[in-house]
Amino acid sequence: MPNLELPWKPIYTQSGGFNWDGGIGSKSSENEPSLWSWSLSLTIAFTLVVYVLEKLLDGRQKRAYQQTQFPKQLETTVAKIDAQGYKQKKEDSDAADAATPAEKPLLQQLQDKFKSSQSYGLDKINFGMIASTYDTLESVVFLLLGFLPYMWDVSVHLGQVYLGYTQEDEIKITLIFLLLITLVGTVTSLPFELYSTFGIERKHGFNKQTYGLFFSDKVKSLALTFLIGGPFVALLLKIIQMGGEYFYLYVWAFMFVFSVFMMTIVPVFIMPLFNKYEPLPDGTLKTRIYELADKLSYPLKKLFVVDGSKRSSHSNAYMYGFGSNKRIVLFDTLMEQVSDDEILAILGHELGHWKLGHTLTNFCVTQVYFGAAFYFFSQCYTAKELYAAFGFDSQSGSIPTVIALMLFFQTLWAPVDKVLSFVLTIFSRHCEFAADEFSVKLGMSQMLQSGLCKIHLENLGAMCPDPWYSMYHYSHPPLVERLGAMMELDKKKA
Ligand SMILES: [Zn+2]
Repeated sequence: MPNLELPWKPIYTQSGGFNWDGGIGSKSSENEPSLWSWSLSLTIAFTLVVYVLEKLLDGRQKRAYQQTQFPKQLETTVAKIDAQGYKQKKEDSDAADAATPAEKPLLQQLQDKFKSSQSYGLDKINFGMIASTYDTLESVVFLLLGFLPYMWDVSVHLGQVYLGYTQEDEIKITLIFLLLITLVGTVTSLPFELYSTFGIERKHGFNKQTYGLFFSDKVKSLALTFLIGGPFVALLLKIIQMGGEYFYLYVWAFMFVFSVFMMTIVPVFIMPLFNKYEPLPDGTLKTRIYELADKLSYPLKKLFVVDGSKRSSHSNAYMYGFGSNKRIVLFDTLMEQVSDDEILAILGHELGHWKLGHTLTNFCVTQVYFGAAFYFFSQCYTAKELYAAFGFDSQSGSIPTVIALMLFFQTLWAPVDKVLSFVLTIFSRHCEFAADEFSVKLGMSQMLQSGLCKIHLENLGAMCPDPWYSMYHYSHPPLVERLGAMMELDKKKA
């Protein structure tokens, strides 16, 4: 029988008695509760503090979305782009009276979309606030009720009764456990995903997918999670169990190989399961992209167009690949929204990320991150009091490795994670400015500016984001800052 009692006990009763070796603050006296036994309360406190801070930021962003006045700074900035474009067109057309129906000025296009953009942003932030409140509530309740230890007991029971597993089959039981919690997670998050896609995205005209496509995507990604995630977890646990004192070094090497493996198979085998990738047809755009790649010695091997419009009218472009085998992917939606010149300027920006080493830096940072995480994990995963605080009976034997990992990332590592992701967000904005500058230096400043404006208005991006909110959440600087920075560069050049 699975243990149906709530495994959670008041933290004071759990100190003393346990002997555990090594780890941070390992000298705990007999009667005083050690830091470990506080870990449940600390984790909940940390979760709540982060929740409150993030809600304050959400509140600020919400007020920004409620503004009805088109932001002044954006107005002056975009008016300059329009003036530039107008001058350019006059020079190009040799003063021959503009018989062609002129495109609306960008400023007017942005102003036309301002109301829709504010209302889209408002819907998203309101929904985000509800979703994150639910998430926080769920994590705290699950922690207090001992959801993880309960699910572990259920998995052991299922494994023993139906599959004849014994206590020795920890990895097999772990796979049952992960299957169960993934299914629970999928079910609890489903209403939110459905509302986001078929409520908000549809209301604002972005959603293009049917329920059929939505659910077939879900089934496919779950199947892939088990197909790839299962063997991955099994190997990871084997390495931790057999690695001895320095297991974190082997885990690190394993994570490196696995990252490279995923980066190889995801674009080639996995993404085509969800979308159609077709070579960009021959024509001037293709020729010009290859010329740009040549100029920067970017070893472009393939150039694809992906049918992003199958799911959403949001637009994008990206590149990937190792060594001399690089590919660029353009969304069909992007090609509809901007001109060829603008696509080239946007690719100039993307190639800037590569040329300036941002892609490689990100990869290295990720590797260092895993290294540090697993090193610290190795230092404290023997702390039985930590597990006891979360309702795992550590006296009856060893703690399952997967539980140790999950608790580590949920407790000790969570603050590190928060700080690090904030630092990485700042770094990412720095990279965006640098990539813009790269494209400007290639002489495509004006096209990048107008291209960015168009993408922004087509995607109903925030036009007057709150500065604190954007500093905390935005991986890309706000539009007006990017345009301003490019104009500064233009001025210096002139
Ligand atoms: Zn970028």
